[in-house]
Amino acid sequence: MTGPTAEILTVGNELLTGKTVNTNASHISRELSEKGVPVGRITTVGDKVDEIATALSEALLRMPRYVFVSGGLGPTFDDITVQAVARALNRKLVSRRQVLRWMAEAKGIDVSDLTQPLRKMALVPEKADVIQNPVGSAPGLAIREGNTEIFVLPGVPREMKEILRLHVLERIDRVGRLVRRSFVVEDVPEARIAPLIDEVMKANSRVYVKSHVRPMVEGKSIIEVEVSMWAPEDGECEGLERAHRSLQQALMEMGGTVV
Ligand code: ATP
Ligand code: MG
Repeated sequence: MTGPTAEILTVGNELLTGKTVNTNASHISRELSEKGVPVGRITTVGDKVDEIATALSEALLRMPRYVFVSGGLGPTFDDITVQAVARALNRKLVSRRQVLRWMAEAKGIDVSDLTQPLRKMALVPEKADVIQNPVGSAPGLAIREGNTEIFVLPGVPREMKEILRLHVLERIDRVGRLVRRSFVVEDVPEARIAPLIDEVMKANSRVYVKSHVRPMVEGKSIIEVEVSMWAPEDGECEGLERAHRSLQQALMEMGGTVV
């Protein structure tokens, strides 16, 4: 399996200023990794139609299998993500009766009594699949564009997570699995491990190796080495085993203790 297969686009000025930590991106990445879908890129932009539309168009040019957009779906004037998505895809916005019904039902009122800001949330790009939001008003969207499936989700973390869990993950095809092996090596400084890692990654192009320095104990350097790779769902991960073995062997030859 090659190439990234999912991208995440998070929207919100508060993410750019650091007022809000981008937990939606990490949550979606974690869920996708578990589901066997590698995330190739996470982009964050502010609440500006142009910025959002451009970021989505650029993502589509890379032809990922999935794009997840989160944030800016609410009823207020600064929630313009859906408008930006429609612009990027060159589609009209149309009002969806189904969404009006869901909102009226959730509030226990008649569709005709929905306020203008709520009606705004029923406006979605043409040919979008609307996904019910079990804990809020703004619906999620699933939009097919060429070979890419775009999911548009609310920014409120609880709403995003619920829609993802209940209605989106089941629509995702597993691409492979992320296989990880790690071990700890003592008595070899990180500066000596780095070139070795480079070499092993060059020899096993699908394998990713990362070292994490742990706090020293009694002057001893302690480093955790993690070897990982995306493997086909039913296939082997031979490269990973080979990389794991050759790293351990080389480190022991350098006088390290592998734990
Ligand atoms: P709303 O209906 O509340 O307007 P929305 O879909 O428009 O929902 P936003 O306005 O973007 O979402 O954000 C709503 C709340 O969720 C804010 O408190 C915001 O800080 C938080 N939020 C938005 N995006 C993220 C994110 N990527 N990670 C964590 N929290 C986020
Ligand atoms: Mg909002």
